[in-house]
Amino acid sequence: MDVATEIALKELTKVRAPRATATKSRAPTPTPAMKSVLMKNAGHRCQERGCEAEAYLQVDHVIPVARGGRTEMRNLRPLCAAHNRRKG
Ligand SMILES: [Zn+2]
Repeated sequence: MDVATEIALKELTKVRAPRATATKSRAPTPTPAMKSVLMKNAGHRCQERGCEAEAYLQVDHVIPVARGGRTEMRNLRPLCAAHNRRKG
């Protein structure tokens, strides 16, 4: 095949690369609706054992996103700011 065709094919492959299809479900930030259900289920308390903090709760990924954890209900739990920060 000639060079022009080769370049055209490469361009096509580039466009098809699965880059723009990064799914919403892998977004690291839970939606407000997810947060509200999580907080409710947890009784609006930090889920760290022995901690009863009710203020400054943040949603924590049980398995960090960096290690393949997903932003879905079973991988999320509310933690107080102190516990969430300590875990990273
Ligand atoms: Zn805590």
